[in-house]
Amino acid sequence: MAAAADPHSEVIIVGAGLAGLACAADLLAAGLSVQVLDASDAVGGRMRTDTEAGFHLDRGFQVLNTSYPQLRRRLDLRALRLRRFTPGILLDHGDRRVRLGDPTRHAGDLADLLPGRFAAPRDLAALALLGGRDLLAPPALLRRGPETTTQAALAAAGVSDELVEALFRPFLAGVFLEDALETSSRFFHLVLRSMLRGTTCLPAEGIRAVPDQLAAALPPRSLRLEAPVLRLAENGVLLRDGTELTAESVVVATGARAAAALLPELAVPAGRTVTTYYHAAADSPLAEPTLLVDGSRALLHTCVLTEVAPTYSTDGRALVSSSVLGGDAPAQEGSVRARLAELYRTDTSGWEHLATRTVTDALPAMPAPHPLTRRTRLGHGRYVCGDHRATGSVQGALASGARAARDVLADRARGPRA
Ligand SMILES: Cc1cc2nc3c(=O)[nH]c(=O)nc-3n(C[C@H](O)[C@H](O)[C@H](O)COP(=O)(O)OP(=O)(O)OC[C@H]3O[C@@H](n4cnc5c(N)ncnc54)[C@H](O)[C@@H]3O)c2cc1C
Repeated sequence: MAAAADPHSEVIIVGAGLAGLACAADLLAAGLSVQVLDASDAVGGRMRTDTEAGFHLDRGFQVLNTSYPQLRRRLDLRALRLRRFTPGILLDHGDRRVRLGDPTRHAGDLADLLPGRFAAPRDLAALALLGGRDLLAPPALLRRGPETTTQAALAAAGVSDELVEALFRPFLAGVFLEDALETSSRFFHLVLRSMLRGTTCLPAEGIRAVPDQLAAALPPRSLRLEAPVLRLAENGVLLRDGTELTAESVVVATGARAAAALLPELAVPAGRTVTTYYHAAADSPLAEPTLLVDGSRALLHTCVLTEVAPTYSTDGRALVSSSVLGGDAPAQEGSVRARLAELYRTDTSGWEHLATRTVTDALPAMPAPHPLTRRTRLGHGRYVCGDHRATGSVQGALASGARAARDVLADRARGPRA
């Protein structure tokens, strides 16, 4: 895959994550010569999977939502062999588990949503209104709605503090990777909409299958791996090994921190860090493909990945993924394992700890007020894209790459740059 780079191309794209790959696809489709450079040994950026000891271990627990428009437009979803989670979640609520599903998809999920079982009638009415509105409203309306924190938006929707603490804070901490509920309410409504409309799933061969499919569509000579860009030059880029490559336009499609190193005019948003622990168990501790959310917030959530995609394990053992906010701390695996014993109501002492994956800057922070798109055109033939220029999501990264490509094409159509 590591083809020698052409010394000149019309556009150089720095970064082969989703944003860079989407940008490259659109520019190539428009007939431009494109060179994508990535510092790493594979494409995908934050969407990588390691196959170790017969297990697919994604670099941090992550899922695909089939309702993302960019995903549907760009990927052959059938070829990903998607494996579905059950809609909704199981919430560990101390002495019992509560099933919070979507009764419109599965009538059996109504039981725990009966008035008084988990939430008061007033909260159930607020939930129904909130869900119904976000499900049916056009995205443009949600994008223009009042911008505040998620916590304030829940209060405005009539959700009680009790339900926020019991459900929304634990669940959304695993989505936003922050538990202050300070994330943009517009983003919250868009996320809720995509959850209600789409299916949460994983590719059979791991999350890396997504960028791999995008990269497979590029001509081999247009992608060069293990090619870290040291700095941008007047007419192109300088690689860390001293190679100079020239281009009329340069698109920086890295994460926020690396983008600011190359383009010092950019501000670096705070990043959200998450740690995922992988364990192998002789028997599956929960015989269903469901996300189990920890209401106590000791863990964010856990799930038996092999119930979702049996292909994640080749030796017949169950693969359990469990995530916590922040980095890995000494002895933390022990406390995670102890909490897993409580959550799954089983003895976890015999489980094998396979790996720990800490992802620093897994998501850019999006505290309110947060613009859902930021400009990608920086002038003088330079562009920037990535999830930090839109929203920290698959949809945000792909859409940002598409936007940068549109800007490059529009500027070229206007004539030589000043
Ligand atoms: C643990 C985790 C869970 C997530 N869960 C979800 C989820 O459930 N749903 C969802 O929608 N999104 C989720 N996301 C977010 C989503 O994965 C990201 O928003 C998206 O992948 C970001 O893509 P990107 O192209 O913007 O950046 P990146 O993926 O970071 O790609 C940037 C690329 O630039 C390269 N690079 C950096 N510096 C240089 C340099 N100097 N020279 C050359 N190359 C360079 C890097 O190697 C990298 O390949 C999750 C992310 C993580 C990490």
